[in-house]
Amino acid sequence: MKARRLSASLRKALTAMQRKHKIATEWVEPINEILRITEGHDELIFEDGAWCMEFIAREGGLDWLLAAIARSAAELVAECPKVPLRICANPQCGLFFYDKSRTHRRRWCSMSTCGNRSKVATFARRHSPARGDA
Ligand SMILES: [Zn+2]
Repeated sequence: MKARRLSASLRKALTAMQRKHKIATEWVEPINEILRITEGHDELIFEDGAWCMEFIAREGGLDWLLAAIARSAAELVAECPKVPLRICANPQCGLFFYDKSRTHRRRWCSMSTCGNRSKVATFARRHSPARGDA
């Protein structure tokens, strides 16, 4: 239920941000709820050629994921409206993400999911047995 509430609120808030509309207090409340109940810390992560902050939550099943999502969402909302909000290039994904790369040309919500899936698909095509080099 927490997950569903968070996801519905995020959709509304991020869509509003993309359209440069105001973010309603009731959309932010589910984010704060999760931030309140989850513990974690920030770490510097090297990604897309730049160091950036990433929230590392304490392990704990689904709450771990929710905390990371809530944290990212909170950062987005806090930096609105100058935030480089983008939509993942994977058509099956459609997630919003925060383009922290220096060039602002990041294409995937996450390199470890959609980015790699795309790379693996490209690799599989290039190295398919049909070419006789398998
Ligand atoms: Zn994606």
